[in-house]
Amino acid sequence: MQIKKETEVACGGVPTAVQLEAINAQAKGKLTAEQVYVFCLRLCDDQVDRDGERFDTAALPELAKLFIGKTGIVDHKWSSDSQVARIFATEVVKDNGISYIKAWAYIRRGGHADEVIADIEAGIKKEVSVGCAMGRAVCSICGGEYGTCGHVKGERYDGAVCSAILKEPMDAYEFSFVAVPAQRDAGVLKALGSRRCLKELAEEFGAQAEYRALYKQAQLGMQYQQLLGDEVVRLCLTLSLGIEEPVLRSIVSKLGAEDLMKMKSALQERMEEMYPVKCQLPGAGALGDGMESDFLI
Ligand SMILES: [Zn+2]
Repeated sequence: MQIKKETEVACGGVPTAVQLEAINAQAKGKLTAEQVYVFCLRLCDDQVDRDGERFDTAALPELAKLFIGKTGIVDHKWSSDSQVARIFATEVVKDNGISYIKAWAYIRRGGHADEVIADIEAGIKKEVSVGCAMGRAVCSICGGEYGTCGHVKGERYDGAVCSAILKEPMDAYEFSFVAVPAQRDAGVLKALGSRRCLKELAEEFGAQAEYRALYKQAQLGMQYQQLLGDEVVRLCLTLSLGIEEPVLRSIVSKLGAEDLMKMKSALQERMEEMYPVKCQLPGAGALGDGMESDFLI
């Protein structure tokens, strides 16, 4: 899944000798300290963000490595001259129980880049949008794959707020500087490509009725899955499989609707074998010839 987050430029200035060496490992030409401007940024941390997601702390070192060599572009323009910055070093920093990826990037001074540097110095290009691809999102409540377990980000379950934990870093993308004017307007936020929830989009595009209908259907789907789970548990208990109810419930909570349906029909078959249903009324074959002849004139 594609992940996009906003962050901030933290500091800037002239590179140290060690930094310059790392920069020259990335740069094609040999650059001098005077030719480059260095700044650092906090790429992402392991805290729950406004999307109700957080990066797995254990995934940060791998993700940090993926960001090395990635370029920074201005306002999502993909022309080569807008690729002004490049990350040359990253590290995972632990601060007050929070782990985050700190990155150092450089900009080659001169021409168009000087405007960007001036903007960073002035705090105008303070915000940075970063993107990456993560292989898995896991539910913080049950540990199942997020999106299949029925728990919803931001909702409360027995006092714990559900969040999606992003694991298995796959790729890191270019980052982009975003000019942040004193007054933020919706246009800038949209350009960030920030992830917005379906409800907000439905409101913006006048699709509330459709959204509500879909929401209702989804709720019904979840209720159906719950009923299926209950039925599977009931069948298992009736068949005395020797599995305790809490264990059954735990197993069932991890299954999707399709698996539950398969389980239910398999258990029902077993039920019918063990306790065949006896029909109260005689079948057609059981009727004697004499009975039918009663109606013959
Ligand atoms: Zn869950």
